[in-house]
Amino acid sequence: MTIDLIIQLIASLTGTGGLIALFLITEKKTAAQLQNTRKMDEKWQQIIAQKERDFALLNDKYEAATAKIERLYDDNSELRNSLDQVNTDCAVSRIMRCDCIGCHPAGLLSEHSTTRYSRAMKNDRISRNFTYSEFERSDTAALHGIDNAIPDDRIRRAVRLLVGNVLQPLRDAMRVPLHINSGYRSSALNTLLSGSRNSQHTKGEAADIAAPDPLLLAQTVIRNSLPFDQMILYSTFVHISHKPDGPQRGQILYDSSYKEHYPDTL
Ligand SMILES: [Zn+2]
Repeated sequence: MTIDLIIQLIASLTGTGGLIALFLITEKKTAAQLQNTRKMDEKWQQIIAQKERDFALLNDKYEAATAKIERLYDDNSELRNSLDQVNTDCAVSRIMRCDCIGCHPAGLLSEHSTTRYSRAMKNDRISRNFTYSEFERSDTAALHGIDNAIPDDRIRRAVRLLVGNVLQPLRDAMRVPLHINSGYRSSALNTLLSGSRNSQHTKGEAADIAAPDPLLLAQTVIRNSLPFDQMILYSTFVHISHKPDGPQRGQILYDSSYKEHYPDTL
């Protein structure tokens, strides 16, 4: 059957009115589709508008938060600067042996500070090779902000007698500089170092002397009959004490670190 015959057949079945109806149906369908598309378009426009409003709102919030962070950062900088200034004042006061922060205005050292400082320097020397500063110096104390200055003359006297009777003669006999790892310990420092409660370090009666060869150092003390109260050999240093008013016990002990390091010498 050819196409012409099919058209003739439909035309004969539906007549002209049928064709018009068919055309109208198609037209209506297209109009409905267009309306749907318009509705969808409007819906999308509404969604986009809402998203734009949401974005603007978020943007406002973001800008407000950024401004707040900047303000906080400025406040924080001021606090940091104040803290730095206080730390600097404290450090300078401590170095100058001055416990009065008020005497160091605007970075200019007052006469009060400098006088105390020069007096401290003059009074620092104990003997040819030892100073009180060496006994007071402590990295641990510095790290924890502990004042480890010798507080009274009783302790200064004990330190002086330890140096005069044992350490300076030992230094002369050894003919090498002796480094004090730990000398005087304030009770706060002693607690931090887990020292014994009655440690002679807290009385200025003891010093830990760095020693690459602890046995040689101990032998030198004994050969020269130096009046020590107690001598404890560690793997890298020797603890030596001297009682200011005697009697000296002459006690020798070996720390476990020494025993582990030099088992053959025991
Ligand atoms: Zn010690």
